[in-house]
Amino acid sequence: MRAIRGATTISRDDPDVIRREVGNLLDVICEKNGLDADDIQVIVFSQTKDIRSMYPAKAAREAGYTKCTFFSAQEPDVEGSMKLCVRAMVLTDTFGETRHVYLNDARLLRLDLAEKFNIALDGPAGSGKSTLAKRLAREFDILYLDTGAMYRAAALACVRASVPDWDEKAVCELLEKVKITVKYKGGAQITMIDGEDVGSDIRTAEVSMAASAVSRYAGVRRKMVALQREIAGGMSCVLDGRDIGTNVLPDAKFKFYIDASPEVRAERRLRDYEIQGLNENYDDILRDIKRRDRQDSTREIDPLRKADDAVVVDTSAMSEDDVLEYVKKIIEENV
Ligand code: C5P
Repeated sequence: MRAIRGATTISRDDPDVIRREVGNLLDVICEKNGLDADDIQVIVFSQTKDIRSMYPAKAAREAGYTKCTFFSAQEPDVEGSMKLCVRAMVLTDTFGETRHVYLNDARLLRLDLAEKFNIALDGPAGSGKSTLAKRLAREFDILYLDTGAMYRAAALACVRASVPDWDEKAVCELLEKVKITVKYKGGAQITMIDGEDVGSDIRTAEVSMAASAVSRYAGVRRKMVALQREIAGGMSCVLDGRDIGTNVLPDAKFKFYIDASPEVRAERRLRDYEIQGLNENYDDILRDIKRRDRQDSTREIDPLRKADDAVVVDTSAMSEDDVLEYVKKIIEENV
């Protein structure tokens, strides 16, 4: 869910003026963020105490925003607060660059929200990147882009079409024909092959190994990296993968290299499989993890590598909460 903030001052406490100014604020929010009125799920308003003649929610409805849910609240009289000011938070499930809108001298008070920032998490399989990424995305209300899922979808497309993962030419030709995309629903990433949600099918051991194999190929990486940059270029997000800090977003504001011993990682994967009801064996998982590490870190193009400016976090002996607190603190101190 994207939260777009906006505010405007109102020239007079008069229903006609409030309706016009609130309508204008919402129109500009929509225009700058590529939204239609129907793309908005919720609008939360607050207004200063000197606005009495009409609630912004009523003004918004009368200005044509009829389909979403509203909430309006009155702010307390705070010293130094702006006069006749309406603040809005527009919540939408759509995907795109978020542009906050401030009109008629209203100001953005949360400067941290003004700047777009990306968090790059790299590291080997099972190091805890995706758990951390999901929690960071929730903490900072930003998007989580699971880049591994995109390579997994590419691998699944090959498995389904019986294209062997060692045949670079055939793999790249197939990926010219199928369309791998992601969209977001309720904040969760949906990874698709030709429009079909392949979420659960891409988590098997077979697809994990095939993903590591097909992600070696330049033709595959070029497509995936272009899509990742397009998404991350438009909004604040946290990405996890193998080459985010080194290649996809070398200018990311925050870079972490998340690591753990192969044994701990194999234990974690075993637990993941158990939760999914899959019956896998610890020794096989450990062997696959080591093979995948070798394959991912020795490949020629964009190998798994720590970026020079990444902070290393060894999660072997850390709880998920400890990892989150440690990384969150670094981000909060520097955002
Ligand atoms: O992270 P996950 O285990 O889902 O990734 C599956 C495979 O996709 C990895 O083993 C790796 O080979 C590949 N990958 C990649 N670059 C990324 C993310 C994943 O090469 N940015």
